[in-house]
Amino acid sequence: TIILGIESSCDETGVGIVRLGSDGSVELLADEVASSVEQHARFGGVVPEVASRAHLEAMVPTMRRAFDVAGLRLSDVDAIAVTCGPGLAGALLVGVSAAKAYALSLGVPLYGVNHLAGHVAADTLEHGALPAPTLALLVSGGHSQLLRVDDVAGQITEIGSTIDDAAGEAYDKVARVLGLPYPGGPPIDQAARRGNPKAIAFPRGLTGPRDAKYDFSFSGLKTAVARWVEANETEGIPVDDVAASFQEAVADVLTAKAVRAATDLGITTLVISGGVAANSRLKELAADRCTAAGITLRVPRPRLCTDNGAMIAALGAHLVAAGVKPSSLDLPTNPALPVSTISV
Ligand code: ATP
Ligand code: MG
Ligand code: FE
Repeated sequence: TIILGIESSCDETGVGIVRLGSDGSVELLADEVASSVEQHARFGGVVPEVASRAHLEAMVPTMRRAFDVAGLRLSDVDAIAVTCGPGLAGALLVGVSAAKAYALSLGVPLYGVNHLAGHVAADTLEHGALPAPTLALLVSGGHSQLLRVDDVAGQITEIGSTIDDAAGEAYDKVARVLGLPYPGGPPIDQAARRGNPKAIAFPRGLTGPRDAKYDFSFSGLKTAVARWVEANETEGIPVDDVAASFQEAVADVLTAKAVRAATDLGITTLVISGGVAANSRLKELAADRCTAAGITLRVPRPRLCTDNGAMIAALGAHLVAAGVKPSSLDLPTNPALPVSTISV
């Protein structure tokens, strides 16, 4: 069974193709991504109108590349999955409209799926089926959440989330303050490797005894970095040390809360996904703390952590395998789709 996945919720146009085996296994056949990230760089963040237009231009070429790589034809497709939320309204509309057109013309079922559940499903392409329950730490440019995953195709419950900025958003804003390029994650990660993570004691948000146990806050950290830079500007900023100290604060809070949640809930598998899961220090600290707590850590390769169509195809495959009812051809987009709604 061949499943096509289409992703267009933010600034990546993704087309993935997977094969669902009769034993429920999911094999990746193609994963093509076109990104408009360079067009947003000078604005320091994604410009919705620019992203929508880029999706429109990239959709068909990206689709062609994916079928070339897979060595398949459109007529080989048995089902289509598409991100219908959460995300940017105009961007989502491009992918959903394309998916509807393909589903209608090919006469195959269409599944409107949740982008965040897709990030969790991405890991199944690399490490196989998720044990039930699994704890997922989803950290990207727009989200920072802890999810209890009982069934990636059937039941996901949010147990914590950021009350202000997402982790990736904090990386992007701190990079700006330090004069590093957008997106900020990779250059901060690099600078941090040369710096001293103990140089500056930046605040760990929401870690007080009376704070919500599994929620995150990164806005105070971002402001603290900006203030520190302002106050020390005349002496020249030790960029590597600031980056390392900031990165340490983010990795510390994310891993401490994830391990604590897993321990409290008696969950022994932790999956980390989303763009920030590419972060070297986050992976290192998570590995140390998971080993100490007897938790199995799963992190997909960076390519599967950032937005892509393969994760949407994988989620579609799990829905087909579970016998979930397809969506109607008039399925709407929902920019604020809650993670508990895995398919519509
Ligand atoms: P969402 O998935 O929430 O809709 P998005 O599409 O912006 O948002 P992703 O593409 O998954 O999210 O991730 C992009 C984010 O990941 C950016 O904020 C970027 O700075 C961050 N990022 C990428 N690489 C790294 C890294 N090595 N360390 C830290 N952050 C990183
Ligand atoms: Mg992106
Ligand atoms: Fe994403």
